[in-house]
Amino acid sequence: MDRPVYMDHHATTPLDPTALEAMTPFLTSEFGNPSSRTHRWGWTAEEAVEQARGQIADVLNCRPDEVLFTGGATESNNMAVKGVARAYLERGKNRVVATKVEHHSVLEACQALEKEGFEVVYLDVDPNGMVNPDEAKRAVNGKTALVSVVWAHNEYGTINPIAEIGRIAREAGALFHTDGVQAFGKYDSDVDALNVDLMSISAHKIYGPKGVGALYMRKRRPRIRFVPLVDGGGQERGYRSGTLNVPAIVGFGKAAQRSHELRAEEAPRIEAVRNDLRDRIFNQIEYAQLNGHPTERLYGNLNFSFEFVQSEAVLLSMRGVALSSGSACTSKSLDASYALRAMGIEERLARSAIRFGLGRGNTMEDSAAVANMLAEKIEEQRQMSPLYRLNREQES
Ligand SMILES: *Cc1c(COP(=O)(O)O)cnc(C)c1O
Repeated sequence: MDRPVYMDHHATTPLDPTALEAMTPFLTSEFGNPSSRTHRWGWTAEEAVEQARGQIADVLNCRPDEVLFTGGATESNNMAVKGVARAYLERGKNRVVATKVEHHSVLEACQALEKEGFEVVYLDVDPNGMVNPDEAKRAVNGKTALVSVVWAHNEYGTINPIAEIGRIAREAGALFHTDGVQAFGKYDSDVDALNVDLMSISAHKIYGPKGVGALYMRKRRPRIRFVPLVDGGGQERGYRSGTLNVPAIVGFGKAAQRSHELRAEEAPRIEAVRNDLRDRIFNQIEYAQLNGHPTERLYGNLNFSFEFVQSEAVLLSMRGVALSSGSACTSKSLDASYALRAMGIEERLARSAIRFGLGRGNTMEDSAAVANMLAEKIEEQRQMSPLYRLNREQES
């Protein structure tokens, strides 16, 4: 392959040039601390932060003061789950409802709550990886403080019916949080239309810088109680202390605005490349199984299991192509994806899963090149598999 192909946009995205341009002054001459109230360096920084807050609020269709900046969506998820649940314990609410396929940062925050005495119900997903609203309805009761359901899945791309689940949570008097990282800015992100009370988002998944994110937290109807995880100088209205990362926040605001603006053009273009890649894979590779929902899925996502191979071996042989098995977080360990297992996919097939994350830079040349190389490498790996050869012999 002459040109490297990056198809791992669920793990991270390149920085948008306009975001970099917006950030540069705040990495150099405009280095002020937005909490400095007595000089122009502080005022300039504060103004820039508030502008970014406004840009993100525009995408969420919320008030700027409902956007809290964090160090990324891992932190936002921890704040939403622990910070909210802990605040409702004294009101007798000790139940949290989540799903089995949440990001590690939600799941482990839930596990921390269980150690504190909370009861956490983990919802199953259907064979397409989707949460069934009826099941959510059965799990939510008067003791439920919070329901947390991922909007679009970072491994297999399925988009959950969160507006419906949000309505169910609300009717039961529970708050509704969604991990919106993969869908924010790419799909209509109006928090009122989505019935969301809290949403975690991250800059580096939408062509912004790493290490910055936000938590949308509804301010009125209902007003949300919250116990901060980080105490200190009282920044972000006391919800998240610590000096704000001004350049990153500025880049985040710009990236959010760009995503929103480019949405109408970008979504069909990337989806067409994704569909081309999907069709080529089905045409060129035997025993290919698409994981996740056939239609209700992120337009940039594919997740395939290729029987008779180990995904790691295939990925390492694909020089110049960036793909992944499972999520970036689990690709460090060799465990099969818990999310794919939760959908009922056998261990053997989960271990042969490859995730394709298409994004802004991908073209039809990329889909052709990736499909061709993948077909070749998978065939090479399969030739080394006794199970595959046995299977071929039995079939012929
Ligand atoms: C990447 C990701 C996160 C974590 O975001 P960071 O900003 O990298 O901490 C959380 N949830 C989902 C669904 C993600 O894809």
